Amino acid sequence: MEKCHQCGGSIEKVVGSVTLEGITINDLVFEECQQCHEQYFDEKTSIFIQEVLKFIKQQKEKLMLEQSA
Ligand SMILES: [Zn+2]
Repeated sequence: MEKCHQCGGSIEKVVGSVTLEGITINDLVFEECQQCHEQYFDEKTSIFIQEVLKFIKQQKEKLMLEQSA
């Protein structure tokens, strides 16, 4: 069992929501420290989150451009 890098607490696999840059993604599987709630993502999940954030940012910029035109 891995230990938390922040506080040494125990890490458990959970299904939950993640909020990054004001954007919440639900139903993600990740590992979370039971003590300080630091979240750990595997490589695929990290890439997924980055792609989602990138997509939303691009679409948002597009929308704002259209609305200001
Ligand atoms: Zn911790």
